[in-house]
Amino acid sequence: MPLSLGPRVPRRLKATLLATAASVCLVAASAPPAPLGVGDRLFPYLGNPGYDVSSYDLSFTYPGDNSKPLRAVTTIDARTTRRLDRVNLDFAHGRVDSVEVDGRPAAFTTAGEDLVITPENPLPRSSRTRIAVRHTSDPVSPKGRDGGWVRTADGLAMANQADAAHLVFPCNDHPSDKAMFTIHVTAPEGYTAVANGLPAGVARSGGATTWTYRTQHPMATELTQVSIGRSTVLHRTGPHGLPVRDVVPTEDRKALEPWLARTPDQIAWMESKVGPYPFETYGVLVASATTGFELETQTLSLFEKKLFTDTAYPKWYVESVMVHELSHQWFGDSVSPRVWSDLWINEGHATWYEALYAEEKANRSLEARMKAAYSASDRWREAGGPPAMPKPPKPGQKIGIFRANVYDGAALVLYALRQEIGKPAFERLERDWVRAHRDTDATTADFQRLASDVSGRDLSGFFRAWLYGEKTPPMPGRPDWKAAPPSKTAKK
Ligand SMILES: [Zn+2]
Repeated sequence: MPLSLGPRVPRRLKATLLATAASVCLVAASAPPAPLGVGDRLFPYLGNPGYDVSSYDLSFTYPGDNSKPLRAVTTIDARTTRRLDRVNLDFAHGRVDSVEVDGRPAAFTTAGEDLVITPENPLPRSSRTRIAVRHTSDPVSPKGRDGGWVRTADGLAMANQADAAHLVFPCNDHPSDKAMFTIHVTAPEGYTAVANGLPAGVARSGGATTWTYRTQHPMATELTQVSIGRSTVLHRTGPHGLPVRDVVPTEDRKALEPWLARTPDQIAWMESKVGPYPFETYGVLVASATTGFELETQTLSLFEKKLFTDTAYPKWYVESVMVHELSHQWFGDSVSPRVWSDLWINEGHATWYEALYAEEKANRSLEARMKAAYSASDRWREAGGPPAMPKPPKPGQKIGIFRANVYDGAALVLYALRQEIGKPAFERLERDWVRAHRDTDATTADFQRLASDVSGRDLSGFFRAWLYGEKTPPMPGRPDWKAAPPSKTAKK
């Protein structure tokens, strides 16, 4: 759907409370604007109460220089869940020029990392509303804070997990509010833009091209991907005719092809374990950038080029990392965490299938890996907290909540569960989980309940010990496994 933009009304944030007499009255009559959140224990100010976003329409204009802000329009269709005098969006790294609510100019200001909008008239409960924000999107990271846009050698990519989508565009930045996305990118001649979902049009005008992409399934803001670069899009076919498209720097396409060619078989392998691939397309986005991580952005996972070109990495390792991100499409993307403390479900499963693939395809013993994890588990719990009660991120610390306790530490919980309920029940649980919660979000309690249902046993004691215990419980069926004592110098 083409955007209806209306007249451009440049306006700086500070001046906006004077915008109209009506909004001045409204603001004066209520409490001062304050940052709000949905109550996530790990990120108290992420997300906002009072509405549910149904769709985002994002429009970015890339100037051809990745150190300069993009012009952007973000249009949000939402349904209110209560009467709202103000609407809070998360947005923390760009200039806001104007805001319209249902086609009418609205006053706005900032509070913390929120953009606080005061519509002309309060929005009634259970009503549909459309909020359009004209803004810039700054690809240069704020000081001491990574995430959002990733500047590559030839353009931009995106890495918003866990709390950085609102550095790129105004949104309800929490995985509990998934929505449909349409993404338009306008870039100068010579660039190629690709985003989540399937292509929905290309238009050329005045030396620039506008690409449009649309998701067929709801998506969390943290999983948004936009690639702009001197790229080539390579097409291939996955299981059941699934369109697979990879996005690579044009100069590297030949060198990368042997890796990219592995994807259809990897998808088939994952389908043999957990059931049908959950989305409309998949592919690998290779970025010439140093991120220090790969990321499971929905339908188009982000990888550092170095993973494929650095010959120090063994083949089995590279492929198992590809499977890690692929398996997140089921665990983390299609079924997303209700709150960030549920992260162990994402990373535990992705690590599990990464390790299982390495065992089945390259004889890397899963049991040996789990035994080593068992030995380190008490130390990981001390450093990062128990898997389902991770410690909050420390400001300025790159690793955030992505510590060993939710990777191999959480895969170890799945191994213990398989030991406890047996392989057939475990495999049934995995399939039932992704089927039952497809296209929505789910909690640790949901996982425990399903595991108990599938195994026909009350597993609450098992999960309490394994997910919330300070110490790693004894491994069922492996009485000889020992956890090394936490080191005295481990950082709290
Ligand atoms: Zn992961």
